[in-house]
Amino acid sequence: MKSANAAPCGLPRPPRLPDMEARPELASGEVKHLQRCINDLISLLALPAVWSGGDPSQVLHTLLDALMRMLRLDLVSVRLTDPVGEAAPVEIVRLAELRGPMPSAREICDALPQCLENGSRKWPPLLRNLMGEGDVSIVPLPLGLQGELGVIVVAAQRADFPQQTEALLLSVAANQASIGLQEARLLSHQKRVASELDQRVVQRTAELAAANEELKKELAERKRVEERLDKARLELARVARITSLGVLTASIAHEVNQPLSGIITNASTCLRMLAADPPNVEGARETARRTIRDGNRASDVITRLRALYGKKDPTIESVDLNEATREVLALSLSELQKNRVIPQPELAHDLPPVAGDRIQLQQVILNLLRNASDAMSTVDDRPRELLIRTEPDDNDRVRLSVRDVGIGFETQAADKLFEAFYTTKNGGMGIGLSVSRSIIERHRGRLWAMPNNGPGVTFSFSIPCSLESLTSGRNRDIRTSGVTDAA
Ligand code: ADP
Repeated sequence: MKSANAAPCGLPRPPRLPDMEARPELASGEVKHLQRCINDLISLLALPAVWSGGDPSQVLHTLLDALMRMLRLDLVSVRLTDPVGEAAPVEIVRLAELRGPMPSAREICDALPQCLENGSRKWPPLLRNLMGEGDVSIVPLPLGLQGELGVIVVAAQRADFPQQTEALLLSVAANQASIGLQEARLLSHQKRVASELDQRVVQRTAELAAANEELKKELAERKRVEERLDKARLELARVARITSLGVLTASIAHEVNQPLSGIITNASTCLRMLAADPPNVEGARETARRTIRDGNRASDVITRLRALYGKKDPTIESVDLNEATREVLALSLSELQKNRVIPQPELAHDLPPVAGDRIQLQQVILNLLRNASDAMSTVDDRPRELLIRTEPDDNDRVRLSVRDVGIGFETQAADKLFEAFYTTKNGGMGIGLSVSRSIIERHRGRLWAMPNNGPGVTFSFSIPCSLESLTSGRNRDIRTSGVTDAA
């Protein structure tokens, strides 16, 4: 058995070509042989252009076919140490002639190295039936720098195989195959990474789409909840108004009753004075005057009541908060007096008007006064003073504060006061402050409570004066939350 010289890298050492210039007497047969060799060389060097797709199977198949054709081989096989890419063949065999059933590529690839090791010049038993009994030259061509990619084994029964030029071609072919396979391996790796990336992008996109769907659902659900909340708020506002009206009824009855009984008394007195002999005309005139005064007082109460509750459509207008406060105080006066509450209005002279719905703002004030009065209902060791203050606030705003000297509230309850249905009163509904805060927030303002240094607490709200900030976009909100629904 003979094998080609191996170069340091494991490839056959390229032989030196005859120097044609130096040997003009070169035989024409030799020239032809050299020309064919050069053509084959060019073909081998051109192979990478065909391998541009980086398919390792194509690299190996085209190379084996080219070697079979160029070198008139009887057998060529390739075995890769590890597959290059998923679809890469690991073992391939080409035979010049097939005289019987072909063993598997694996069996052939296994049989050939034994031949090489033994230095046998005979075909291994496995191939003897196919290839005959003659001598054979087998040449191994390691792939890669250290043969790490695999090995190509070529074999021919020609006695002169491999000639110098053939050894050159084999060496170039092994080089080309090594480079082609390395590139294929690289490309395959790149493709795998790219495909993994693609998969991750697809997966992430799907996750994001799912998250987006979830978010959309949440938003829709949130919108539904907000709509339900709006409805509930409207209902609360309606109930709050009815409650306020209920509380006011006693006060109004008292306010109207007083002048009415005055009218009746004065009218009876007047009649008596006129029926006297002689008639007391001057006394009758005076009692008639008092009758008219009481009548006017009753009428005033009705007018104020109309002003507070008679309006059907809430509107945003320029509101004088002092005037609005005075009206609420006048209506609540008898109720406050009944509870021995001493109202102390401190209304700023230079108060700018605010933008808002007068009725809604008056409802808030009324609720704060009522709560303050309730908070002082058990206070007996100090005067039940109720301070109602209006003043200009920072940033073009106006502030109204209601300060009582009542029982106050626990620090931990501070957050709950404004929650709907939070109440500490027997028969309380716990919606006054929640509705009040929503009214004030719809006026782009703030409503808050602070414990006093002394006894009691101060509730304050601050709202903007500017009409513009409310008329753009917020107008509708204030209207829909109107307290006049019950009217
Ligand atoms: P309600 O008056 O029906 O209880 P509110 O929402 O108006 O409903 O008030 C909620 C709770 O806030 C009251 O029950 C009370 O505990 C507390 N609160 C309100 N105003 C005051 C105040 N001026 N002083 C102390 N606690 C108060």
